[in-house]
Amino acid sequence: MAKEEQKFAVGIDLGTTYSCVAVWQEQHSRVNIIHNEQGNRTTPSFVAFTDNQRLIGDAAKNQAVTNPENTVFDAKRLIGRKYSDSIIQKEKMLWPFKVVAGVSDKPMIVVKYKGQEKHLCAEEVSSMILTKMRGIAEAYLEAHVNDVVVTVPAYFNDSQRKATKDACVIAGLSVMRIINEPTAAAIAYGLDKRNNCVGERNIFIFDLGGGTFDVSLLTIKDKVFHVKATAGNTHLGGEDFDNRMVNYFVEEFKKKEKVDISGNARALRRLRTACERAKRTLSYEVSTNIELDVLFKGIDFCSSITRGKFERINMGLFEECMETVDKCLTYAKMDKRRVHDVVLVGGSSRIPKVQELLQEFFDGKDLCTSINPDEAVAYGAAIQAALLSEGIKNVPNLVLLDCTSLSLGISTNVGVMSVVIPRNTTIPVRKTVEYYTTKDNQHEVPINIYEGERTRAKDNNLLGSFVLSGFPPALRGHPMDICFSVDANGILTVSAEEKTTGNKNEITIINDKERLSTEEVGRLIQEAEKYLAEDKKFLRKANAMNSLDDYVYKMQKALKKKVINSKLCLQEKNKISSAITKATSLLDDDSNEIEVLENCLKELTSLFETFMNKIS
Ligand code: AMP
Repeated sequence: MAKEEQKFAVGIDLGTTYSCVAVWQEQHSRVNIIHNEQGNRTTPSFVAFTDNQRLIGDAAKNQAVTNPENTVFDAKRLIGRKYSDSIIQKEKMLWPFKVVAGVSDKPMIVVKYKGQEKHLCAEEVSSMILTKMRGIAEAYLEAHVNDVVVTVPAYFNDSQRKATKDACVIAGLSVMRIINEPTAAAIAYGLDKRNNCVGERNIFIFDLGGGTFDVSLLTIKDKVFHVKATAGNTHLGGEDFDNRMVNYFVEEFKKKEKVDISGNARALRRLRTACERAKRTLSYEVSTNIELDVLFKGIDFCSSITRGKFERINMGLFEECMETVDKCLTYAKMDKRRVHDVVLVGGSSRIPKVQELLQEFFDGKDLCTSINPDEAVAYGAAIQAALLSEGIKNVPNLVLLDCTSLSLGISTNVGVMSVVIPRNTTIPVRKTVEYYTTKDNQHEVPINIYEGERTRAKDNNLLGSFVLSGFPPALRGHPMDICFSVDANGILTVSAEEKTTGNKNEITIINDKERLSTEEVGRLIQEAEKYLAEDKKFLRKANAMNSLDDYVYKMQKALKKKVINSKLCLQEKNKISSAITKATSLLDDDSNEIEVLENCLKELTSLFETFMNKIS
């Protein structure tokens, strides 16, 4: 079958620290996790900027130590949030790159690219990672990839989901569906279990990744996957464990050497990389060493840490995870003994203490580790993509019913949160509620939409506001309909209608400022194309330089051979030598245009081949 005729569906797990892309191939009726050009099945969610190029993935992460200020990661922690958000304020201190407040309190990442300062929003950085993941899939499939399913933590709120969708648009991708990460993992897992599943099966997904923590309780019955409840923390994961270890060693360095490295971005980055490696080692060893030559002010750093110490400094966070597990079961009104399977997802679920606490919580139940925790989410996303794609027939027949993770409602006239769609309602959902004016002759009503679980509306997250107007003069108690609609991606739309006239009022969302406008998305799409063109140009130039350098080397090597050298006259040798000198001077000067390099190679090739043909 020709490559173009192949049917496939792509799922992307856009992770905080690593991303993964998977494909359902109709031809083989199964999911493949696609490896990147380095042969890795997951790709670091890193983007870096240098004086002459932009790097994404492994290449970006690998140079992070030498270019910390311009190496961006953790975009997922910034996406859909305001700069003044306490999480960003806290995190800002730990990031080696600069984050400033942009228009309407939007956090902007500041980097230097080709000598110029650039301000990037999280959507833009995420779109670069998505572009990379798409490129990985395209290289493997040898076909254009347009439609994808992308995953987000179940706990992501409306703004974070919308911002993720914007990132896809900037990357030129069409989003078939945004699904929750634990749900995707359950799809991957449920596929294995479905055949021997009798009656209802309750599955608890424990997903502890690099930056986010999600738990979900799902019920699988026949072909239906039903999310019963979700809970989590969008700011808890492997990086927090790394940070605690970094702080521990910063203190140790201070005590031992009487110097504080906490203000030095490069030293901190090196220490963080070493800590992350040590943390992974501690998942299978009981102690490990950290050795960093010339870490700061010429001082080498050499230390060790035991698994016990690592567990003690992170115990508070591990316990927080278990409290969330308990909360999720309470939300689902399910006794833990009714849970059939506890599934581990996310790289940090490999930590032995986490597994131990979880197993203890579920009264010694064996934990399911059959899916690779780094790949399960992308795997499930690819299956969901196949289900949504036209013309794919062999995909397993399952129905996915996801649910809302936060309650959605409006503020009453006394400032109380009036819930319209409660947390954990199956989506898509549409609900209309009747509201009334509270004063005589009221001609407009301000409506504020919130998400969250607090009683006082103001304590929840304000999603949007609008004013419903145009009421005919009437006594208080004049009715209006407010309709909340959450689509399959978990994205909310609200509309309102004045009942007696039946006219739907124009809704002006005035608190949607942190969201990118259509014009901004358009501008960023153009920028993304510009970046891509620049990357391609850089690669072409690097290839041209390599080819020229290679050819010069080959010529010099050939000329050293007696059989060749002895057959050339002095004039010919001089001609070749001056051509080589010209080529090497071009190679030494970085500012040359690609065409100059390519032409030089052409001249060199034709000159040398002429002589070689003459000799042979
Ligand atoms: P994810 O977001 O699911 O890709 O998870 C990435 C996180 O898992 C990173 O913080 C990694 O440091 C962490 N991780 C990966 N492997 C291990 C391991 N063997 N032990 C502890 N943490 C790990």
